[in-house]
Amino acid sequence: MPLSCKQVAEKLSENLDRPLTGTTWLKVKFHLLMCHLCRLYGKQIEITNNTVKKVDADREASAELRENVENSYRELHVKNKSAE
Ligand SMILES: [Zn+2]
Repeated sequence: MPLSCKQVAEKLSENLDRPLTGTTWLKVKFHLLMCHLCRLYGKQIEITNNTVKKVDADREASAELRENVENSYRELHVKNKSAE
């Protein structure tokens, strides 16, 4: 039985957490070939998912940056102290 658009949408979001395999993936693929709306949806959630991941990465990067800034501030502070 072919998948409905709703089922495909569900499978596509499942696919982001753990990749689809075997016949499920084939059915989704087949549906995507026929249905440009679901293709669009698939692209969209992929982009959203990547954006979320990117935001997480950015947050990590900024935490690291903050740590660096704090470290160099401390170093500076220590240097000034010993200069006194
Ligand atoms: Zn569809």
